[in-house]
Amino acid sequence: MKKDDLIEVTIEDLSEEGTGIGKFEGMTFFIKDAVIGDRVRAKIMKLKKTYGFARLMEVLTPSPDRVEPLCPVARQCGGCQIQAMSYEAQLAFKTRKVENNLKRIGKFEEIPMESIIGMEDPFHYRNKAQFPFGKNRDGKIITGFYAGRTHSIIENTSCHLGKEVNEEILEKILAWMNAFHVEPYNEATGKGLMRHSLIRCGFRTGEIMVCLVINGRKIPGEEALVDSLKIIPGMTSISLNVNKEKTNVILGTEIKNLYGPGYITDKIGNIEYRISPLSFYQVNPIQTERLYGTALEFADLNGGETVWDLYCGIGTISSFLARKAGKVCGVEIIPAAIEDARENAKRNGLDNVEFFVGKAEEVLPEQYEKNHIKADVIVVDPPRKGCDELCLETIVKMSPEKVVYVSCDSSTLARDVKYLGENGYEVKRVRTVDMFGMSGHVETVALLTKKCLHCN
Ligand code: SAH
Repeated sequence: MKKDDLIEVTIEDLSEEGTGIGKFEGMTFFIKDAVIGDRVRAKIMKLKKTYGFARLMEVLTPSPDRVEPLCPVARQCGGCQIQAMSYEAQLAFKTRKVENNLKRIGKFEEIPMESIIGMEDPFHYRNKAQFPFGKNRDGKIITGFYAGRTHSIIENTSCHLGKEVNEEILEKILAWMNAFHVEPYNEATGKGLMRHSLIRCGFRTGEIMVCLVINGRKIPGEEALVDSLKIIPGMTSISLNVNKEKTNVILGTEIKNLYGPGYITDKIGNIEYRISPLSFYQVNPIQTERLYGTALEFADLNGGETVWDLYCGIGTISSFLARKAGKVCGVEIIPAAIEDARENAKRNGLDNVEFFVGKAEEVLPEQYEKNHIKADVIVVDPPRKGCDELCLETIVKMSPEKVVYVSCDSSTLARDVKYLGENGYEVKRVRTVDMFGMSGHVETVALLTKKCLHCN
């Protein structure tokens, strides 16, 4: 077996990134754009000891779950990974993945999996998009998305994951660039003004924000640009973001306001949020509401409980819980997110929330030792690497009745749930929520309760 060999493989699984996985002569191959159930011909691109990467050349026998992607550039574009798989099959795959991880890594025999919460429309769900600008081979200014793992731009102004209005906004920006000879930024030379445009929409309010990320501090034809954009229904905020660094990080730290109040507002449940260009906000607000609703249902609050919300971000889950709890304490590592969290709590008249800046694995043990804090319910929503063991250890010491674990990575969820399982907790309910259709990612909510000591 060597590079460039053609092999025939049956796809049996998908990676977290949505890449097809199959075996050939004992070796595991990762084949992008192949769907579970496909029999494919692929060309070996890279070989390691036990696995390799191959390029899909031909689908020999299509999987019964294979569908025609809606988007003509689905394969080249890095935005979607599994558009060639029917949405029902995507949901079944995600449920299976979470269940398998909990069994294999978590060492549970039976998992109380409930049905996955899918989307009614698995397209048009994103409220945020960041479009890079560049030039094609003919020197025409283009915008779209990066191809997977590279920075070559796949031209596309009508991405099906986002709002339809993005296309109109992008066409106006392109027209303005051409009229005022605005050069797109060139990553190789560091020259050119226009880097990205960030577009955000409040799904519930209809408010739209456009923020141009520029390699400079001013733009030519500012008035013409603002005039052309502000007539779009819902346009609420237009601003510039200054980013003169040679970096892959899209946004700089300085905002210059051109039109409107500098932010848009949106609602999740009955909580209102103020969103500025730099704030974090969930990209799929409809499913976020269902995810937090599930966490709230699992927490099953009666009104008097003390709840700790670890990894709280801008306090979205905290606010959701605060309406039903006695007191909610949030912990988050990023100071700016905590500022937003406090502001959002104030905006919504919530006076039973308190926020702490710091690492969950430091703040929680410290508060426990010093102030003997208690919790009836602890909610965690960590990043993909999961919870630090010190954090889990303190949770066990605090001995809350319930732990509600919100997870974006089911393998670290399984690892952490195993730890809690070995320390007095059992898994009562597990429900997955699809927040990112057309990608391999899935969110899970798990409810753990204290094992009954008299039951066995
Ligand atoms: N619950 C929030 C955010 C979840 S994302 C929401 O739903 O909006 C995970 C969050 O954990 C991020 O905001 C990240 O900044 C934060 N984080 C990462 N490591 C952390 C740590 N060690 N301690 C506390 N927060 C951390």
